[in-house]
Amino acid sequence: MQPDPNCLFCKLYREGDHIAATDGFVAINDINPQAETHVLVIPERHIPSFHDISEMPADETKRMLEFVADVAAREGLTDYRVVVNAGAGAGQTVFHLHWHILGGSVGRMA
Ligand code: AMP
Ligand code: ZN
Repeated sequence: MQPDPNCLFCKLYREGDHIAATDGFVAINDINPQAETHVLVIPERHIPSFHDISEMPADETKRMLEFVADVAAREGLTDYRVVVNAGAGAGQTVFHLHWHILGGSVGRMA
């Protein structure tokens, strides 16, 4: 699994300020939060978009979703949104699959 040298999230997976991590996945605070809590879950595997989810093995996909739930719980959230922007037309700006966790009072992304 080669990181893409031009990809911001491949770089942040290796060097970012992680608030949580597990094998193959990290969580970081969004640099431009749209909610009181706005965390991104980033897989190590460079998959450009949710459109390409079939590139991820089933067990890895399950662990990714469990990590999303785990990070939300660790952030003290019981009620929250999980958002994936799939494609530029839906607002995707970084083309490495990631999950937004939005909790507390939610702004623009609501
Ligand atoms: P999306 O628009 O769904 O592709 O989400 C990309 C997200 O990455 C946006 O919410 C940005 O605010 C966030 N972002 C961009 N650069 C950074 C960075 N260096 N550290 C943390 N979050 C970032
Ligand atoms: Zn990447």
